[in-house]
Amino acid sequence: MAIGIYIHVPFCLKKCNYCDFVSYPYDADLAASYVYALGKEMSYQLVNMGSEHREVKSIYLGGGTPTVLTGEQLAAILENCRKSYQVADDAEITVECNPGTVNPDKLGRIRKAGANRVSIGVQAYQQELLARLGRIHNWQEVESAVRHSRQAGFDNVSLDLIFGIPGQSMRQWRDTLDRVLALSPQHISAYNLKIEPDTPLHRDVCSGYLIPCDEELELEMYWYVIGFLTGNGFVHYEISNFARPGREARHNLIYWRNEEYLGFGPAAHSMLEGRRFSNVEKVELYINRLNRNESGIQNQQYLSREERISETVFLGLRLIEGLDLDAFKQSYGQSIFEIFAVQLKRLSSLGLVKIEDNRLKLTEKGLPLANEVFAEFI
Ligand code: SF4
Repeated sequence: MAIGIYIHVPFCLKKCNYCDFVSYPYDADLAASYVYALGKEMSYQLVNMGSEHREVKSIYLGGGTPTVLTGEQLAAILENCRKSYQVADDAEITVECNPGTVNPDKLGRIRKAGANRVSIGVQAYQQELLARLGRIHNWQEVESAVRHSRQAGFDNVSLDLIFGIPGQSMRQWRDTLDRVLALSPQHISAYNLKIEPDTPLHRDVCSGYLIPCDEELELEMYWYVIGFLTGNGFVHYEISNFARPGREARHNLIYWRNEEYLGFGPAAHSMLEGRRFSNVEKVELYINRLNRNESGIQNQQYLSREERISETVFLGLRLIEGLDLDAFKQSYGQSIFEIFAVQLKRLSSLGLVKIEDNRLKLTEKGLPLANEVFAEFI
């Protein structure tokens, strides 16, 4: 079966106030060494993981901020990937873009190198909210990034949004969605803000400087985005994701369908042939290891049958279409009712899950309580 490839670019110009992803301040020399090490890792994995016969159906350059790299470096990464792997002609190739770090030349270069989708981190329309999040861009740069993407030939543009920001009002959320819709994206991700420990936002909330968004308001924002986007022709296909018909993110579907993928770069995770593994997080350590012709892998484990079953269920439940129960039985030789009889009975009686068209799905009531539902299957 075809796999996906994720490439982690661990650099940002400035750390956002809510971010706990693995990213380091951009440094041109370090970035050049990283790009070189990445090329080595791709050939190393090819030889050592026996993945050379696997076709690649999607590539995703995420981060960090991939677009802090030059257009030439981004193109070199994609070209290395093609050299090492059999990338399908119709593969989805996405580059995450921070609006403050793109220009027409860079976008043109990555389009020419084969990228066919951009995912732009918009987050909010209002400057005060962008500043609260510690984003480096403003709304004008969002509009330019979308316009320049189109001019470069990208006809598949995804925009990322955040709701539930401290101090964000319902009116601001509605305005953000109106503005974003006017940019005619093919895909929108709308995530509620998680205030992660050890972030500046967490410290501001703990000190009382910022007041977290009220839970009811956050829920109201969630119902609003679903109603607004589905009312404007988007398909709500995953808890936090919306797409024009046929423009669902093929790379992310690999994760939610518990399919296989390879990750490259510091902190990147992989899942291949029943084995999960991840790379060292420190970028210098990653570069040193690859320069010594060693693997970047730090942790690996073979998943037990129980772990694979748990993951299949809670990842599948993220999709609005739910989990295909025939496919589940075929994969694991037992029906889901035999394995999770007690849990399913409890969740159904609470109205959080339902069976429809031989699929297990979250109900409308279960959608905002998805994490509580998933915990039942772990
Ligand atoms: S741009 Fe993304 S990865 Fe970088 S600091 Fe901000 S949220 Fe984190």
